[in-house]
Amino acid sequence: STTRLAGVVGHPVSHSLSPVLHNTWLEAAGLDGAYLAFGLAADRFRAFVDGFRGGSLAGVNVTLPFKTEALAVADRVSARAHAAGAANVLIFEVDGSVSADNTDGEGLLYAFARQATGFQPDAGPLVLFGAGGAARGAVAAFLAAGCPEVRILNRTRARAEDLAEQFGDRVRALDPADPSVLSGAAALVNASSAGLGPDAPPPPSFDRAPASAVVMDMTYRPLRTPFLEAAAARGLRTVDGLDMLIGQAIPAFEAFFGQPPPDAAEVRGRVLRLLGEAS
Ligand code: NDP
Repeated sequence: STTRLAGVVGHPVSHSLSPVLHNTWLEAAGLDGAYLAFGLAADRFRAFVDGFRGGSLAGVNVTLPFKTEALAVADRVSARAHAAGAANVLIFEVDGSVSADNTDGEGLLYAFARQATGFQPDAGPLVLFGAGGAARGAVAAFLAAGCPEVRILNRTRARAEDLAEQFGDRVRALDPADPSVLSGAAALVNASSAGLGPDAPPPPSFDRAPASAVVMDMTYRPLRTPFLEAAAARGLRTVDGLDMLIGQAIPAFEAFFGQPPPDAAEVRGRVLRLLGEAS
């Protein structure tokens, strides 16, 4: 038999939880496979990919800082990876070609579905904090799911405007100080990488968010961020970032190993124990 191999490529990659997710699922499924971590120097990504063309790896997850470069090295790009402007999955095809996909948006919607029962992405406007790669993927996923309007709030306004322009009429860059910015919002998502230390910006005031709004933070270290704590203090429903990580890994696992993970959600408890968080 041949052991199927996959992995995650990043710089650095030692913090990645992807090996825990995939190896837990491989074991649960009784599959002959392994999932490895590849830490690469920042200028070695293309050489790495070319070295595995048609070779012994089924595919890789791609994390920072290679998500944009992963699009450029691929021979085929899925519609959703194209829309997100980044790839988090590369598949090494037997003919030596490489296919790129982006499952982060699917992961984001999975997190909402798991933690905010009944939430529908087409129910109303999305307010998005941040305008980087993760924000772009979130815009693409929510628009594809029928979201009527996306409002982008970002420290660097010009970046929010660039993002809005790429997606057309339903997406706008707004001033965070605009009092109406949270009015009627169905979802509020933090896709900013602002640190959590003393220099971090304070969480927004959720005073004007509708009581029905769901608040999500992509950060999962820690799981309960100041952003989510502020939302919970207002009585709003919250969604943490760990299920997004699990949700992006599910379709990737199926692409690498040929079947969906069994009882995918059960891995959450194992990750929480590893992170030292209470579930
Ligand atoms: P980028 O570097 O592409 O974007 C960073 C964003 O954060 C920018 O909008 C930036 O604003 C903003 N930002 C950074 N520092 C500050 C600050 N001090 N104050 C205000 N805004 C700030 O990162 P990504 O988009 O790739 O990732 C964003 C976050 O999402 C990361 O924490 C990442 O770990 C997380 N993530 C989680 C996933 C999951 O599965 N749970 C999946 C993907 C990402 P500006 O434009 O002004 O610089």
